[in-house]
Amino acid sequence: MKTLKQRILTHIKDNGPMSIAGYMGWALLDPTQGYYPTRDPFGVDGDFITAPEISQMFGEVLGLWLIHAWRSMGSPDTVHLVEYGPGRGVMMADILRTANLDKDFKNAIQLNLIETSSALEAKQAEQLGNSGVPVQWVSKLEDIPQGPTLIIGNEFLDCLPIRQFIMKDRFKGNGGWHERYVEVDPNNPDALIYSIAPSPISAIDQALLPSILPDFKDGDLIEVSPGLAQLVDALQNRFANNMGAALFIDYGPRETELGDTFQALKKHTKTSPLDEPGHADLTARVDFAHLREIALAAELDVYGACPQGQFLSRLGIEVRAVALSRNTPNAKEKIARQLHRLTHEDEMGNLFKAIALQSKGLAGPLGFKATPLGFKDTRET
Ligand code: SAH
Repeated sequence: MKTLKQRILTHIKDNGPMSIAGYMGWALLDPTQGYYPTRDPFGVDGDFITAPEISQMFGEVLGLWLIHAWRSMGSPDTVHLVEYGPGRGVMMADILRTANLDKDFKNAIQLNLIETSSALEAKQAEQLGNSGVPVQWVSKLEDIPQGPTLIIGNEFLDCLPIRQFIMKDRFKGNGGWHERYVEVDPNNPDALIYSIAPSPISAIDQALLPSILPDFKDGDLIEVSPGLAQLVDALQNRFANNMGAALFIDYGPRETELGDTFQALKKHTKTSPLDEPGHADLTARVDFAHLREIALAAELDVYGACPQGQFLSRLGIEVRAVALSRNTPNAKEKIARQLHRLTHEDEMGNLFKAIALQSKGLAGPLGFKATPLGFKDTRET
């Protein structure tokens, strides 16, 4: 059987170069040979580790966030709880344990999981089958029945395919942003390399860029994730008719930055993204300023992005750590290490951010600095 890389090489030979987004979508999501559909990538033996896999405290305090959001919607009898990219279902299991603190909340939950990988779907079913809430898998938000909605996603945005544009000949007639492509190496028919489109991007693609860009010069690279706009679109449609709050946590800067952040992780080590499509996790940092801009334009209330350390502290993660250590004195040091990893600025505390997108008229969410009245667009978090 042909490898995924051989199939991609053939496709490019037949159809011409591929955008980074096209390549990323194929490498991550191909149903038979893509990265996610074919494996469980998490943990020490896997390729990477995520916050809920580091500690149960992460999902537990997010459970508090969700209880608060549900109450701010008037504690409806039914709430659609949606998770994008649930991985092994560990975070949701921790959330649902916390949900027991408010039985009315727990009883209101209809759980909807949006997952592209059938391998992970099976893990989620194992993990959440006995959680006491009805659960279904859907392919998109539109497939969920109408009603109040809570949405959550950890490390989901970073695997949405990105496009990369490089500034070339800025002061010449043909100047502007040129798309970076994946191409067959002319010196080695079995290798993939990057290339740059000879013509600048179209006006339509130009409109994909954030409106505020850092100063750039020739050779600079900017990344955009068209999936962010699609996601906001889906939220906007949903929240037009239903109360809703969404929380996303991921890695990336608060303001738009230039630079190539397309990366591959295999066995906790960075590799070249073009070497082994389907065998390494591919991600790029999330541009939270851009997400914020798109969401505000869609008339959503936006809070953050707020550094993960601050956010988790405001949700009481330190208090939770103390309580856990008291219950399991043997694990005290381990819990302290986990807390440090999730919240310290040299670990995940600063690199990772939380952002909340809500329908109009709800109370401010937990964990974000209260937004001054009538000034929703503040950069304060
Ligand atoms: N939230 C989990 C997993 C993060 S990894 C955690 O924090 O541990 C990314 C998850 O998103 C995986 O479950 C992956 O299969 C899923 N995923 C990636 N792209 C997706 C897409 N386009 N649609 C739905 N799920 C996707």
